[in-house]
Amino acid sequence: MPNPFSKKRKIVRQASTSGPKKSKRVKLRPGSDWTKRNFITSVWIPSLFTKRSGTRARPLFPKVQPGQISITWIGHASFLIQTHEANVLIDPIWSMWLSVIKRLKEPGIHLHHLPSIDFVLVTHAHFDHLDRRTLRAVAADQPIVVPVGVGRLVHRLGFNIVHELDEWQTIELGPLRISLTPAHHWGARFLADTHRGFGGFVIGAAGRSVFHCGDTAYFEGFKEIGERHNIEIALLPIGAYDPPLAREVHMNPEEAVRAFNELNAKTLVPMHYGTFRLGYEPLEEPLERLRASARQHGIEEKVLVMTEGKPVVL
Ligand SMILES: [Zn+2]
Repeated sequence: MPNPFSKKRKIVRQASTSGPKKSKRVKLRPGSDWTKRNFITSVWIPSLFTKRSGTRARPLFPKVQPGQISITWIGHASFLIQTHEANVLIDPIWSMWLSVIKRLKEPGIHLHHLPSIDFVLVTHAHFDHLDRRTLRAVAADQPIVVPVGVGRLVHRLGFNIVHELDEWQTIELGPLRISLTPAHHWGARFLADTHRGFGGFVIGAAGRSVFHCGDTAYFEGFKEIGERHNIEIALLPIGAYDPPLAREVHMNPEEAVRAFNELNAKTLVPMHYGTFRLGYEPLEEPLERLRASARQHGIEEKVLVMTEGKPVVL
């Protein structure tokens, strides 16, 4: 008889999966021109003197009806997704500093104003996605889903039911179907832990679907993600495309529009911009470029730019 109060590690991996792998681990070697600029003097120091903007409003969470999905952007890649039956938190980060990098926008709401969270999803172990302090505060014996190789990290933070997914794998969690999708990125928190997986998630709920892309460079896998999963709402990263080491690890806004079209999704919600300065590009540039590209491709009305802390029901 298993002891329900046992704190013994319980990390569940799924049985093997179908189809060829699409993910690619980006090498750690910097791009050729990375020494020509100085990230510390041109981005890091100025950001320390930048006043933090945004406010944490008391959120007015809607009563989510059957068939509806409510999305609340917390900031960066953090979202609260609510269906009629479940509340899901993805890549939650409330910390004001990413180690030495200053958060330049307040999280949209206070952590203590969150509704009870049924499931937590973490796309990869990078510090801006797997925030130990936030996860510790959120952990309340609910299941957490992570890519293969990340389970032990989150288990330590108080999550006793850990599901590790490999690329294309799916699990049913209560009323939700959660699948891990491929990406071109890397998953190491430090230098040596390169075994950690990374990816994005498709959350399916009663015929509706939300795709959280995680972090990725542009790659040819979006079409297949769209074919395997009928994607409606795509949360796509548009920032940090000009990173300090000049590696190809994040999409730019034009590539996000291309990915959106290849996914064949209905709504594009941009993310991963405006919160932390992780690249040389100015904070406001990603959104300007996204708007221009969307106009060029005639998909302006499909782009939903969210305000942190303001739920939108779709
Ligand atoms: Zn990352």
